[in-house]
Amino acid sequence: VETHSATQVWRTEADTEALALALARSPALRDAFVSLQGDLGAGKTTFVRHLLRALGIAGRIKSPTYAVVEPHEAPDGLAIFHFDFYRFSDPREWEDAGFRDIFAGPGLKLAEWPENAAGRIPLADLAIKIEAMTDDTRTVTLRAHTERGTRLLAATA
Ligand code: ADP
Ligand code: MG
Repeated sequence: VETHSATQVWRTEADTEALALALARSPALRDAFVSLQGDLGAGKTTFVRHLLRALGIAGRIKSPTYAVVEPHEAPDGLAIFHFDFYRFSDPREWEDAGFRDIFAGPGLKLAEWPENAAGRIPLADLAIKIEAMTDDTRTVTLRAHTERGTRLLAATA
């Protein structure tokens, strides 16, 4: 599959929310795998929170840093798996916790620090890379690696 990419600049968190809303409206987001790269504080979790809100998740949204994965269920029944591989190191955990099955199964998969699970997680449909330029400004690169990712990318244009 041909690789397509686009860049965005986020000047405020409203821009972050706008990308979340655009992706949430796309039917291609169902069953997609979206990876999020960027340094600590880049805005990966903030983006995921906006995306979960846009998909109808209400209440306090827990971050998965200690659990590695935090599952959610949208009001329409969509299963969402929010991974944070920041502290992931034990390869046995990959099998024991059933992560392979999650990535092979239905539902939306979101992963922070995908590089820490390289060689295990599949290629993301859409890879989002966030670079903080100043306190508020971020440069964001969106890269589609699959047909589904290309449809997602089109939804953000
Ligand atoms: P990460 O998960 O990448 O480590 P977080 O989302 O936890 O990063 O933290 C990002 C921080 O940057 C938050 O304090 C957030 O309020 C701040 N921030 C400022 N501007 C933005 C923006 N445009 N998008 C996302 N976060 C932003
Ligand atoms: Mg985070």
